[in-house]
Amino acid sequence: MPFSTRTHIITRRRLVGACALSVVAILSIVGYLLVREYRNTEEDAARSALNIVQLISRDIRNTLSIYDSALINLVNLVQSQALASLSPQTQQPLLFDRASEAPSNAGFFVLDAEGKLIASSRPGTPSLDNASQQPWFKAHRTVQSDKIFISRPVLTNQPANDWTLLLSRRISAPDGSFGGVVVAQMRMTYFQNLFRGLDLGPTGNISLVSTDGIMLIQYPATDKTFTGQDLSERPIFLRFLNERYGSFTAMSGLYHLERLYNFAQISDLPMVVVVALSTEHIFSNWRHTAALIGTATLLLCLGMLWLTWMLTRELRLRQQAERELAALAATDPLTGLANRRMLDTTLDLEWRRAQRSGAPLSLMMIDVDHFKAFNDNYGHQAGDEALRQVAQQIKTHVRRPADLAARYGGEEFAVVLTETDAAGTRLLAENIRAAVEQMEPANPHTTRLTVSVGTCTRYAKPGDNQEELLSTADKALYQAKKRGRNRVMDINETGLNALKPKPAP
Ligand code: GH3
Ligand code: MG
Ligand code: MG
Repeated sequence: MPFSTRTHIITRRRLVGACALSVVAILSIVGYLLVREYRNTEEDAARSALNIVQLISRDIRNTLSIYDSALINLVNLVQSQALASLSPQTQQPLLFDRASEAPSNAGFFVLDAEGKLIASSRPGTPSLDNASQQPWFKAHRTVQSDKIFISRPVLTNQPANDWTLLLSRRISAPDGSFGGVVVAQMRMTYFQNLFRGLDLGPTGNISLVSTDGIMLIQYPATDKTFTGQDLSERPIFLRFLNERYGSFTAMSGLYHLERLYNFAQISDLPMVVVVALSTEHIFSNWRHTAALIGTATLLLCLGMLWLTWMLTRELRLRQQAERELAALAATDPLTGLANRRMLDTTLDLEWRRAQRSGAPLSLMMIDVDHFKAFNDNYGHQAGDEALRQVAQQIKTHVRRPADLAARYGGEEFAVVLTETDAAGTRLLAENIRAAVEQMEPANPHTTRLTVSVGTCTRYAKPGDNQEELLSTADKALYQAKKRGRNRVMDINETGLNALKPKPAP
C-alpha cells in the first residue's frame, strides 16, 4: 500500500476515533451532570420535607407533653387522700387547674373503676358515653401501666361532629388495684391549625398516622383519605413502621402517582408524621432543564458526527484524486505502461533493496527492430498502434507485483525484475521476444514486428553503481542488434551470452 494511502487511512481512522471519543465523552459528562442534578434535586426536596417533619413532630410532642403533665397532675391529685376531705366545689378548680394550659382541649375527666364520671373540667356537658366498654378503659383496667394511652380518633358530638383524640392514664387505688381513669379530650383542630399554611406543592400533603395504621389527620384534606381510615395493610405504611425515619420514593396506591415520602415517628409516641410530595412536581424544573440540555447535546453530537462524516468523505475523495494523479504521473499515455520517471524511481528503490537483501536484480532493455522503416512505410498512427501491441505483450508476461514494465522512450521498453536470476530473466526475455514475433499485426497490411532484447542481472553490493546495470543491459541490447536483431543477449559475470542467436533477416 502506498505511503500516502496509508497516511490517509490512518488520518481517517484517527478522525473517526477522535469524534467517537468526543461524542462518548460529551454524552458521559452531560449524563453525569444530569444524574447529579437529579439526585441533588431529590436530596434538597427530601431535606426540606424532613425539616418540616421534624418541626411538626417537635410541636406535637410538646403539646402532648402538656396534656400528659396535666393528666399526671390529675392522677396525683385523685390518688391523694387529702383531696377526698374537700367539698366538690373546692375540688373542681384544684383538679383541673393545669387542664387550661392544654391547647385545643375539649375536656378533662375523672372516671371511677366502673367507668362512671366522677369529675369533669366541663361539668354539665355530656361526654364519654359508655366509657367502661371503650378499648382504652379496658386496657387500663387489665394492664397496670404508668404510660399514657392514646385512643383512635373518636367522633364526638360535643362539639358536634368533632374528631378528638382521647389521652388517658390509669388511677391506682391505695392498694394498687385499678381505681379508675383520667381522660383528656384533644380536638383534631389542633393539628389542622398546626398544618395550615404549609405549602407542599400540588398533590403534596402532610399526614399524622398512628403506629397501628390509623389515619389521624391529613392536610390538605382529600377524598382519598379520611380520619379513622385503616392503612395498616399498606406496604408504604409498613415501611414507615420499620424504618421510623427517612425518605423514599414509591408509587402511591391511593393516588396512583409517584411520591417522595418523608417521615418520622414522634419520639416514643405511637404516631408518625409523613410529608408526601409529588415527584412530578419536584422534578418538573429538572425535566425542563434535562430536555433542553439533552436536545442541545444531541444536536451537538449529531453536528460533530456529520462534520466528521463530511471530513472523512472529503479525505477519501482527495485520496482518490491523489491516487489517480499519482497513477497518471507514473504512466506512459501511449502504452499504459509505467513511464520513464516511474522506471527510474523503481530501479533506484529496488537497487537499494537488492543491496540490502543480496537478492539478484535484473533489467531487460527491449527495442523494436527497424521501427523507423515501419513508421516510414505505414505512418505514425500505425507505428503507435504497433507500439501499443508490443507493450501489451510485455505487460502480459510481466505479472509479478514487484516487477515493473516501463516505456523507456521512443520504441524502447525496460523491464525490472526483482529477485530474478540471469537464467530466469533470459527465459522471460525470450518469451517476450517470441510473443512479439508471433504477434498478429493490428493492421493486416503491415509487416510483422520483432524486438531485440538485452538483459543484465546483478547481485548488488554496497557501493555498486546502479547506472552500471542500465548501461550493461544497453550494451547487451546493442550486441543483440549488432548480431542481427530479433534475439536476446545478456551480459553477466560470465560475460556475453546469446540465448537464441538468430541469423539476420
Ligand atoms: P533498430 O532496429 O536499430 O532499432 O532501428 P530503428 O529504426 O528501430 O531505430 P531508430 O532509432 O533509427 O528509429 C526509431 C524510430 O522509432 C524513430 C521514430 O520514428 C520511431 N518512434 C519513436 N518513438 C515513436 C512513437 O512514439 N511513435 C511512433 N509511431 N514512432 C516512434
Ligand atoms: Mg531505438
Ligand atoms: Mg529500434
